[in-house]
Amino acid sequence: MWQFVHRNRQRVVIVGGNFAGLSAASKLSRRFDVTVIDPLQNFEWTPNIHEILSGVKSENGLLLSRSKILQRLGHQFLQDSVSNISIEDNLVHTQAGIQLPYDYCVVATGGERQTYGAAGAEENSFPFLAVHHIRAIKKRLSTLLDRQDKVNVAIVGGGVSGVEALGELLRHDPFHARLNLTLVEAGARILPSLPHQLDTDIRQYFKKYNVALSLGAAVTSLSTDEVELSNGSSVAADLTIWAAGVKPPELLVRSGLLKQGDNWAPTKQTLQSQYADNVFVIGDVGELPKPIRKQAYFAIEMGESAARNIQLLARSRPLKCFKPVNKPMLIAFGAIDTYLVVGNTVVAGKVLAAAKEGIFQLSMFRLGLPLGFIDTQFNTSLRFFTSVKRIFLPELLSLQKIKSLKGVRVLTSNP
Ligand SMILES: Cc1cc2nc3c(=O)[nH]c(=O)nc-3n(C[C@H](O)[C@H](O)[C@H](O)COP(=O)(O)OP(=O)(O)OC[C@H]3O[C@@H](n4cnc5c(N)ncnc54)[C@H](O)[C@@H]3O)c2cc1C
Repeated sequence: MWQFVHRNRQRVVIVGGNFAGLSAASKLSRRFDVTVIDPLQNFEWTPNIHEILSGVKSENGLLLSRSKILQRLGHQFLQDSVSNISIEDNLVHTQAGIQLPYDYCVVATGGERQTYGAAGAEENSFPFLAVHHIRAIKKRLSTLLDRQDKVNVAIVGGGVSGVEALGELLRHDPFHARLNLTLVEAGARILPSLPHQLDTDIRQYFKKYNVALSLGAAVTSLSTDEVELSNGSSVAADLTIWAAGVKPPELLVRSGLLKQGDNWAPTKQTLQSQYADNVFVIGDVGELPKPIRKQAYFAIEMGESAARNIQLLARSRPLKCFKPVNKPMLIAFGAIDTYLVVGNTVVAGKVLAAAKEGIFQLSMFRLGLPLGFIDTQFNTSLRFFTSVKRIFLPELLSLQKIKSLKGVRVLTSNP
């Protein structure tokens, strides 16, 4: 039974304990009474969850115990779901009926699946946002493969998640030969928010691997064996993976942190909610005056910045603006190829797959690994971090050097 221990210090309640929430917690000292609330027991390393599909990563390799991490930081973990935040009364309410008063609240719930009103999407497709979603997809796929020779799989959403999911399903020969794969994207090209050379390049593999592509028509409805599209056509699908975007949770609306006309919960540049100065909204769920990409590295930096500002606010000092700095983006297409996007420059090459691993492990390092995350399973990873940091990353971050690496193709190097 969880008990709230009040220690006569200023109270910080953090709603959501993944990238943004844990990053904030790791930068708040024990001078504050910090409680992190999350319904899931473990921290999840989301950017690599697609690799569970092919078995390249195990579930356990991507999970870390939240209670252990927070215990080592001297903070409390409450495994529960927040049902409301009363910003007038400074109270967080949980589904289990607990009420937690706060001096400062950090909201870091991330987004949830956006189905754009497609009928039957909730019941007949699998979300692609968390480890347990991938577990469910694998289970269903394995049942279908036991039952039939060929399985029709539709992946809805041609963004990064959809492309990465497809890459994993193509990873193993002759496994993918038993799948009829279709990628469905409502826009005119895949990876619509990234340079168009990516679309052209990835598509060259579709023919080779027998992947069908449906562009320019949105999904209107789904049944157990079919996806209906807005142009009247349909795609056979025994299994549908829904990787088509995220939306803010209802909690934000209920709590008055997101109002009519807002896309996500609007914040000031200091990460304070536009609607409550002692509430910080960070990670995917917050929207800065000039919106930024929903990426793990921004979530981590926002967490650090919010924690700094809470400490300034507690001392009645002026707050600092969050200054996002764009980082390279790595998109894996299974074992077939990996793409590095730096602004408008795109390079491709299998060698970059190791970089995707390295960059994210290092980002985790910044989240406070030395303090909170080390346990036996992590000693190996730590050695890996060190070698990646010293040997590989300096090379990786020099675009000039990457371009000259054997096997790396430059798709575009526009300024
Ligand atoms: C398949 C996939 C691949 C990705 N690849 C990359 C990549 O390569 N690079 C990159 O930078 N980013 C990538 N991302 C995006 C990245 O994962 C997100 O930007 C990042 O997870 C956002 O962090 P967050 O802390 O804001 O939210 P999340 O990581 O979504 O965490 C939110 C937490 O809040 C909890 N929560 C939700 N509701 C409640 C509630 N009511 N009460 C309490 N807790 C709650 C959830 O359980 C969760 O633990 C990828 C995402 C996906 C899905």
